[in-house]
Amino acid sequence: MGSIQNRFAATCSETADSLSGYLEHDLAFPRRRRVARHLRRCIRCQSLLHSLAWTIEQLRTLGASEVTAPSVAEAVSERIRTESADRLS
Ligand SMILES: [Zn+2]
Repeated sequence: MGSIQNRFAATCSETADSLSGYLEHDLAFPRRRRVARHLRRCIRCQSLLHSLAWTIEQLRTLGASEVTAPSVAEAVSERIRTESADRLS
């Protein structure tokens, strides 16, 4: 049964590898379809997708597309810290 499903739906690790491409609409069709099918049935990968989508949204908001990755990570964690502080005050 598992092997039959795997022909049509991606595994968790394949999905994780493909999530950024999936979000950027930058995935070849057969793989995109496999990932989409996996996402429909896997809560864990759905939440991974949502947090990645959120992170990318934050990066876009910060206009971080032109900075290097370490700066991006720093900017995101700074942003998260700021928002946490806002909620606490
Ligand atoms: Zn999964």
